[in-house]
Formats: sequence, C-alpha cells, structure tokens
Amino acid sequence: MQDGLLAGKGRSWQNDTIMQAEVMAIGDELTSGQRLDTNSGWISARLGDLGIQTAYHTTVSDEIDPLVDALRIALKRSDLLLITGGLGPTADDLTRDALAKALGVPLELDEASLRDIEQLFAKRGVAMPERNRLQATFPRGTRPINNPHGTAPGIHFIHRRKDGTECELFALPGVPAEMHQMWNETVTAQLTHQAKPSQTIQHLRIKCFGAGESAIEQRLAGLIDRGRDPAVGITVHNATITLRITTAGDSAEQCAERMQPTIKTIHESLGDLVFGEGDDELQHVVIRLLAERGQTVASAECGSSGRLARWLSEIGTTTYRGGLVASAEAPESLISQSAILAENGATSCRDQFGADYAIALGPIAESTVRAGGEFYYALATPDSVLLKSGSTTGHPDHLRDRAAKQALNLLRLHLLETE
Ligand code: ATP
Ligand code: MG
Repeated sequence: MQDGLLAGKGRSWQNDTIMQAEVMAIGDELTSGQRLDTNSGWISARLGDLGIQTAYHTTVSDEIDPLVDALRIALKRSDLLLITGGLGPTADDLTRDALAKALGVPLELDEASLRDIEQLFAKRGVAMPERNRLQATFPRGTRPINNPHGTAPGIHFIHRRKDGTECELFALPGVPAEMHQMWNETVTAQLTHQAKPSQTIQHLRIKCFGAGESAIEQRLAGLIDRGRDPAVGITVHNATITLRITTAGDSAEQCAERMQPTIKTIHESLGDLVFGEGDDELQHVVIRLLAERGQTVASAECGSSGRLARWLSEIGTTTYRGGLVASAEAPESLISQSAILAENGATSCRDQFGADYAIALGPIAESTVRAGGEFYYALATPDSVLLKSGSTTGHPDHLRDRAAKQALNLLRLHLLETE
C-alpha cells in the first residue's frame, strides 16, 4: 500500500516528497471575526488541484510582533507559504515590514514597481499619495509580482534555511479579485514548475442520510482511519452526513480509478443510507427518481418554514406540482385545521395538486422544538398512506431541517423499494 495521503512532512507518496504548504491570512478584520477568511480556502483548493497539500491555515492580526512570529514559524516548518493581505499603503498594512524583519533584511525601493504604481495613478488622473511609495519597497532579495488591477504588487521569494532546505513564499493582496487574478497569471505558473511530481489531489463527496455520524463510521470499519489512501473523512451538516474521499494521482482519471474500490466498499457497507454524490441533496434525488418514472409530487407542511416547498421548487421542474405552507403558530391556519399531521394532510394535498405522491410534515410548533416531543410526517402514494413520527432530540436549530429531510427520505426509500 502507498503511504498515506495525510502523512506528515518527509513521508512520501510515489517516491517523492510531499510539499507541505501553509496558507496565511493577515488582517484585524479576520482575527476579530468581522470578515470571514475566504482567501485561504480558495488557495488551498487551487493547491489541491496542483497536487499540493496544505498542512496549516494561519490567521494573524495586523500587529508587527505576532506577524513576525507567525512568519518565522511558517518559514521554518513549511515548504511553501502563501500569504494574503496587509500589502496596502496604510499604516495597518504591515506584511512587507514583518517579512523584512522575519527574513532579517532591509526594505529596498524597486524603481520599476514605483513607476508601475505612478502610472496607475496617472491613468486614474490623480496624484500618487506619498504613502503609496511604500508599496514599491520590498525586502532585499525578494521579487515583485505584477498586480494589473491594484496598487499593491505581490512578493515572491525563496528562503533558504540553514540545513539547505527551502521555503518558497508568495505574498498577495487581500482583495480576493486581485489575488485570484495574480494567482492565475503568475503564481500558478511558478508552482506548476515547482510541484514535483506533477500530481493532482481529487476529492469526491458521498452523501448519506438516515443514521448518525458514529453509527455510519462503525459500519465503515477502518475506512476513516488516518493514513489510509484514499483518505476518507466524515462530516455532518444538518443531519446529512458527507463522506469525503481524497486521493492523489497523475491525473483526475487516475484518481477516480483509485477511488473506485473505496466507493464500492462504502456503498456495500451503507446500502440505502447513501443517497447521492457531490452537490446532491435529498430533493434532487427524489425529483430524479420521480422524473425517471414520469411521476409527480406535491407537499404540505406546517411549522417548517416552507422547507419542502422551497427545496423542491428550487430545482425548477414540473415533477414538483406545488405545496401548501402553513404556520404552526396560527391555529386557524388552513392546513393545521385539515389535520396535516395525519393521513388526510398527505392525501388531500396529493389530490388537490393532482400529483402521484404527496409528502406532509408537521405541525412543528416552536414549543415542540424547545420543549421536545414528537413530530409527524406522512407520505401519500398513488394507493396508500404511510405515517411516521420523528423525535425532537438534537439541537433545536437543526430540527426543522432534519424533519423535512426525513419526509423527503421517506419518499426516496419508498421509490427505491418499488423500483
Ligand atoms: P490593498 O490595501 O492594496 O487593497 P491589502 O493586501 O492591504 O491590499 P487588505 O487591506 O488586507 O489587503 O484587504 C483588502 C480587502 O480584502 C479588504 O476588504 C479585506 O477585508 C479583504 N480581505 C483581506 N483578506 C481577506 C481574506 N483572507 N479573505 C477574504 N477577504 C479578505
Ligand atoms: Mg488588511
């Protein structure tokens, strides 16, 4: 067996050393929680495409000491360092100062970059503020990266450590659009050149519903273990369990081939708990199964904020005939009066919309959510009605999502059984 994909530094796959990348996001707005760091995720995904794995995401405020500390640590432990933010001209943009300090070199003016910045201001028809000169300064020995749409050039450098190993670093502006363009035009070319061997990291998501995270893991004996290749990770989001399979290879096709046995094991172990792949949600699968048979569905729900109607209608097909949405807090509401929770809700909805199937859910009153209890969901098929109850255990914030998914899943399982 090959070495694990998630193996540490120095371990190898396919006889070559894994690059250990670190992505660093700089800015007070990030560390204070006022803005979400989207740059780091974006960069890691691009690195993955190039077969480079990210070992660290570091986020640092605009303070010189923490910045220098973080840079020193990164320069020591990582082979590749991608930095975004703090390259602006203002007093809180300290990336270049911190880099100079961490590398132990002075900042020097780069005449060509200064001319570029002056030209940019000339084009805009305004005088260049004196502070923007700072953006043309670079730690000695580093190289500017052209920024066609902003005043902040990036910084490129290969730092050689005492033991002869290297850390290649790229510092890019924080503005996502500028950063993306510079990545595509400059950084990728450099990295493709550096990445050895030319590998790609591919991910595949398998979606499951109907059992808890640990129950699913138990049925996948050994698959989630660290160090396995392909690696399998498990995450849960509003009762949907996602299994993320990751592997590296020379091409996307080779990765797909390598994943096949793992995918097969997952299907064999989990059976109909697996409902889809990638961006699939339960509603997509239900609509697909119905469309294949030329059948239709309608929905009736009370107290679920119209989740079924929204999810099903968003797909935009005539397979979904329509839905009734009622508030569980208004007792006079149409659907709660017609006893949605019982068989009648589903059957009358099916007949009203002239659909082959109807799913009904609720009522789920706020008091049920907070105090606990049961909720009901039902499925009207062309010739019968199934009534089920679900418990309100788990976090109240997720209850309505889970309840609506249970109702959809009831239809999915029924369609699979009657195939
Ligand atoms: P410039 O000052 O030339 O625009 P800069 O490198 O100084 O570039 P920042 O001042 O740090 O960039 O950030 C510019 C903008 O980009 C801000 O709106 C900031 O919130 C946003 N931004 C910075 N870093 C990130 C990040 N990691 N994820 C998402 N947005 C970011
Ligand atoms: Mg900033």
